[in-house]
Amino acid sequence: YRAKETGKPYMIFDRRMHKEILEVISLEAELRDALSNDELVLHYQPIVNVDTRALEGFEALVRWNHPLKGIVPPDKFIPLAEETGIILPLGRWVIVEACRQLGKWQKTIPGAERLSVSVNVSCRQFVRDGLVEYVAQVLEETGIDPARLKLEITESVLMQDTSHSIHELNRLKALGVRIAVDDFGTGYSSLSYLRQLPIDHLKIDRSFISGSDNAEDNIQIVKSIISLARNLGLTVIAEGVEHEDQFARLQDVRCDKAQGYMFSRPVDSIAAERYILDYQRRLAEACSLGTPPA
Ligand code: C2E
Ligand code: MG
Ligand code: MG
Ligand code: MG
Repeated sequence: YRAKETGKPYMIFDRRMHKEILEVISLEAELRDALSNDELVLHYQPIVNVDTRALEGFEALVRWNHPLKGIVPPDKFIPLAEETGIILPLGRWVIVEACRQLGKWQKTIPGAERLSVSVNVSCRQFVRDGLVEYVAQVLEETGIDPARLKLEITESVLMQDTSHSIHELNRLKALGVRIAVDDFGTGYSSLSYLRQLPIDHLKIDRSFISGSDNAEDNIQIVKSIISLARNLGLTVIAEGVEHEDQFARLQDVRCDKAQGYMFSRPVDSIAAERYILDYQRRLAEACSLGTPPA
């Protein structure tokens, strides 16, 4: 019908579109097998205390170790996983794998008991997948302290159906897990709903931290998110901290925690373990010298 209106010839399938569709279909089939073929891996990115620079924990971020394409980032397959429902088993795997890894570190590294792990939960998982029951089961299986597991849910998902969100979050909170609102500042949270949500942390979207937009506007936005968080009794995590000067500004405005390339990119579990050990070594050295760690 469009073609008639615009006078342009019909365009059904050109070769390029055909190729793209075939690629999506094959990617979907490959993604279905990725889980059972052990091709998914979690990388871990440190989260530090802004005041003391103490290591607080890690965010677990999924990657697809594709046999031919190499490491595929989540932006390239999470949307497809969501559309196809593959996100349901995939998301469950992420939760159990992250908890198992944290449990291992806590058991084998002295002092690691205080570390936490943050896991991203997608819309489909949150809306209907028996998430609460699954998390309860994983906590029991891995034996980790529920307070050390943080679930990150984006602002837009929480605002979609607020009464459902409040209900589900209350059930998750009853297990003892912590809730972070991810990518905060990019959605349109109603303040009155935000107040009703049983949440613990606001995670400021990285566009306000290392985005290319006006730095002065961004710092004002960061400041107002922090004062909002203070009023609601929440802690604030800044993501995407790349440079010292960005970190210094976060110290000025008394942001609680920070995450970004300045500290480390997301790294595999072996490198993350090395990061923990390195951090502890520096801490011990600083203590014996009586100076705070750099
Ligand atoms: P997110 O949850 O907001 O994760 C933060 C993203 O910012 C990560 O990208 C991280 O690598 C990146 N990042 C961290 N620090 C910096 C920095 O200083 N500079 C820049 N430029 N980027 C930084 P990543 O790992 O590519 O993940 C992208 C998104 O994919 C995540 O955003 C999350 O929405 C989604 N995702 C990742 N893993 C999972 C998962 O296991 N489940 C679900 N449902 N979604 C996931
Ligand atoms: Mg996240
Ligand atoms: Mg985020
Ligand atoms: Mg994001």
